[in-house]
Amino acid sequence: MLRRNVSRTEMDGRQSDEDSAQDIADKAASSYNKEFLFHQSNSDRQLLQMVESALGRIREGNFGQCISCGQEINPKRLEAVPWTRYCIECQEKMEQGQLEHAPI
Ligand SMILES: [Zn+2]
Repeated sequence: MLRRNVSRTEMDGRQSDEDSAQDIADKAASSYNKEFLFHQSNSDRQLLQMVESALGRIREGNFGQCISCGQEINPKRLEAVPWTRYCIECQEKMEQGQLEHAPI
């Protein structure tokens, strides 16, 4: 399902629709289960919040945009972490403490 969605996304350009929302939900569910098996922690809840936030951005039509600088997030990055809210540059800045985390 994921692969089909990716090839269709490549053909159609970056399209936000019900299918991509479903893929994110599927992916989140499997990540959530993995996380849950190893450690129950705040990261579970945070991941769910980030996923819900990503689903909200799909509905609003601004999914795939960095919430910090507004640039489009690299599609490969979105494929790996569909709930990410930052482009790689802003993510790196944040990890170096140069950027504040935005509230979820
Ligand atoms: Zn950015």
